[in-house]
Amino acid sequence: MTDLLAVRDVTKRFGGVVANHSVSLAVPHGAIVGLIGPNGSGKTTLFNSIVGYHPIDTGSIAFEGREISRLRVPGIARLGLVRTFQQTRVFNKMTCLQNLLVSVPHVHEGLAAMCAGQPPAVMARASEILRLVGLQEHTEQHAGDLSFGQQKLLEIGMALMNEPRLLLLDEPTAGVNPVMIESLIALLRDINARLGLTLLVIEHNMRVMMQLAGHVYCLAHGEVLAQGSPAQIAANRAVIEAYLGAQP
Ligand code: ADP
Ligand code: MG
Repeated sequence: MTDLLAVRDVTKRFGGVVANHSVSLAVPHGAIVGLIGPNGSGKTTLFNSIVGYHPIDTGSIAFEGREISRLRVPGIARLGLVRTFQQTRVFNKMTCLQNLLVSVPHVHEGLAAMCAGQPPAVMARASEILRLVGLQEHTEQHAGDLSFGQQKLLEIGMALMNEPRLLLLDEPTAGVNPVMIESLIALLRDINARLGLTLLVIEHNMRVMMQLAGHVYCLAHGEVLAQGSPAQIAANRAVIEAYLGAQP
């Protein structure tokens, strides 16, 4: 079967910096695929290329066999390819519910739902997603008053409002306390298993990766250094050396 996402030989330069060099990776339907690599190895750049944030220099990116590397963010999001950010992006002065309502692809629908007295479909979906991410008791709370981990849950909820088929998560557990990390792992496994959502996850924490991913790619200096099961990657000499070498 065609992979849901196929990245082939993608190179992306910023001036003299080669952020990604001939990167290839595949994300099968229904999988959770991991992406690791030291800081500056090109992980976020690859996400930005996949979701159409910037054009690639060479290579191809196919979603369900369809070339998408010339499309931009809105067109790619409409196909069901959505990302979250390394730096959490929620609207602090809005409630959790409002954050979800303004995250729908057609924002006017969300705004209408916010102003309307009766609950249209988008409102029902927002309530369902608040329950799914475990924030139903915080519906009317300002996002700025949530803990950092809860903001991460909210951000995943905001991405889910777009009804993604492939969700790209950029370091979802970074800076999150251990208890909340367990909640995040449970949520990601749940949306994968129950909603059938395919995930590509950037994550430094190998313990988290072990619990989540079936297959892991490791980037170093913009190139794929290794790929395999989480256990194979954790034991891979070159991967260990890339991480040790990256430490100050
Ligand atoms: P990672 O997410 O693995 O830490 P990044 O993809 O953010 O790595 O960065 C890879 C390299 O590309 C770094 O050298 C970084 O400085 C560079 N880079 C990333 N984005 C830009 C940009 N918009 N302009 C210039 N250089 C960039
Ligand atoms: Mg990054």
